Amino acid sequence: MFTMRLQPLNVMRKMNYLKPEKNLRNGFKDPKRLAAIQDCPCCICYLTKQKQTTKTDAHHFHGGGMGKKVSDLRTMAICQNHHTKGPNAFHHIGRVSFEGKFGYSQDDLIEVTNKLLEYID
Ligand SMILES: [Zn+2]
Ligand SMILES: [Zn+2]
Repeated sequence: MFTMRLQPLNVMRKMNYLKPEKNLRNGFKDPKRLAAIQDCPCCICYLTKQKQTTKTDAHHFHGGGMGKKVSDLRTMAICQNHHTKGPNAFHHIGRVSFEGKFGYSQDDLIEVTNKLLEYID
């Protein structure tokens, strides 16, 4: 479905590929990013080398406190299977179990999503 080659996450970090921080405050809106994420491969499928079989959703960082919705920049590309529908879906098993199961924090997944988005620009 997607053909691209990326460095492993630890290499990406060392090479300092990350874009500079933009607006990460709660309530910040970025509809373009949310739309782009729908065309982005699922970062969990990518990291675990699974074939993606469901559409990609934009998952907002979860667990950051009360109040306004977190910034749209703190979103990650997660397929419906890994987001809400599958047996190991984030919103099914919860943040702690999800991060434990796959071994990546939400911040890791945001980094990977940002890199994947650069590839599909
Ligand atoms: Zn997935
Ligand atoms: Zn979500």
